[in-house]
Amino acid sequence: MTQILILGGGFGAMAAARKLERLLKGGEAEITVVSYENFSVFTPMLPEVPSGNLEPRHVVTPIRAQLRRAKFVLGEIVGVDFTERIVEVRHAIDRTRYRLPYDHVVFALGSVTSTFNLPGVAERSLPLKDLEDAERIRNHALACFELADVTQDIGKRRRLLTFAIVGGGFTGVEAAGEFTDFFRSIARFYRNLDPKEISIVLVEAGARLLLDLPPKMGDYSAGALGRRGVRILLNAPVAGADENGLSLKDGRRVESATIIWSAGVKPSPLVASLPIGTGRGGAILVQRDLSVADYPGVWAIGDCAQVPSPQGGWYPPTAQHAIREGPVVARNIVATMRGAETQPFRYEALGMMASLGGRRGVAGMRGGFVLTGFLAWFLWRTYYLLRLPGLDRQVRVALDWTLGLVFPRDISELRLYSESASVKTEDASGSIDA
Ligand SMILES: Cc1cc2nc3c(=O)[nH]c(=O)nc-3n(C[C@H](O)[C@H](O)[C@H](O)COP(=O)(O)OP(=O)(O)OC[C@H]3O[C@@H](n4cnc5c(N)ncnc54)[C@H](O)[C@@H]3O)c2cc1C
Repeated sequence: MTQILILGGGFGAMAAARKLERLLKGGEAEITVVSYENFSVFTPMLPEVPSGNLEPRHVVTPIRAQLRRAKFVLGEIVGVDFTERIVEVRHAIDRTRYRLPYDHVVFALGSVTSTFNLPGVAERSLPLKDLEDAERIRNHALACFELADVTQDIGKRRRLLTFAIVGGGFTGVEAAGEFTDFFRSIARFYRNLDPKEISIVLVEAGARLLLDLPPKMGDYSAGALGRRGVRILLNAPVAGADENGLSLKDGRRVESATIIWSAGVKPSPLVASLPIGTGRGGAILVQRDLSVADYPGVWAIGDCAQVPSPQGGWYPPTAQHAIREGPVVARNIVATMRGAETQPFRYEALGMMASLGGRRGVAGMRGGFVLTGFLAWFLWRTYYLLRLPGLDRQVRVALDWTLGLVFPRDISELRLYSESASVKTEDASGSIDA
């Protein structure tokens, strides 16, 4: 039977797997999804996890629950042999190594945070890319409040209560809005602190927030965040970081015990190490039908792929695109199996939206139309709630949001990720019935 491997468990991978399940007849092929987490993270809602507005479990959906007949392997992809057509996987629990053969393999491994090798940044900053990052940021922010509440040292206290966010793209802007709501809500519990001492600084290298989008969106976001007390530093590229904060290239300093880094992503390091179609930043350069030239049966989608657009240039690495590339790669794999022609990927983005906290948002639609304020915020919530996979998750998030309108944010610092739950056995090797 034809073996189809889908590497990754995020937006692109799940969209591809579900489409393949629908297109393939029973017995035609076996589909196996491999990812090192057994859930998919709904990243548009991730900035609401550190602030406690959403429970971590409510923004993830188990991979097995999303699949109907595809198999799932919880493991880390550690290597690929393109000659033998084998993917090497290390199981996430006991580190046993497995060799999975493929006829078709789809790379959908996403991206990782890029700190551009700036000195001290990787060591001192907190990325906001996955669930563990979100929980780490939350605990760190709460720890800063606890320390600030007891310290008499004015300089230290100011540093502890200054939260620097680097990157004025969607993640940075949304995190700034969320933290504003969070800190306003919890300040009352720290009796020795004056809420005026708390400061959020959003640092952006470019001349505007949301630089790649219509200027009205960035300008509105800057105004809305500024009115809520966020200090916005534009044209402020970062030079490096140390234990006391950030140094900017123009010589300025931001003294802060917290640096949240959302200034860029790069393709998964594993794909960058592969010999195939190396594109920008190590991405897998694909053809218009999402296949990799000279490697029959090898396909790539999402953030780890560099996908050409018919207008020239490349499609951006967003969930919106990964979700649309999934079904196209699935159709093209089935077409190849059945000897039919493959189709190019073509998609015009619907627009982009950001939630700015304080029930304000900004949305840029197709055709250049920009919506701002409460309506944009409401649209953001409604759209993303409906896109969240699983009715149970949708209900849980809707309840979290409703309760968040009535009750203050929770300040419990649960150190859930201090030790990862894993069953430790010796590094071993084995095989999987495929
Ligand atoms: C905070 C935040 C907010 C965002 N908001 C938006 C938004 O509002 N709209 C939007 O369009 N985009 C948004 N994005 C971008 C969006 O999340 C990505 O573009 C999207 O996730 C890319 O999908 P993907 O399938 O390529 O990768 P991902 O969804 O990242 O999935 C990658 C998968 O690969 C797995 N994996 C990686 N390496 C390995 C390995 N070696 N072995 C095994 N498994 C591996 C991971 O566990 C994961 O399951 C946001 C991103 C972030 C971080």
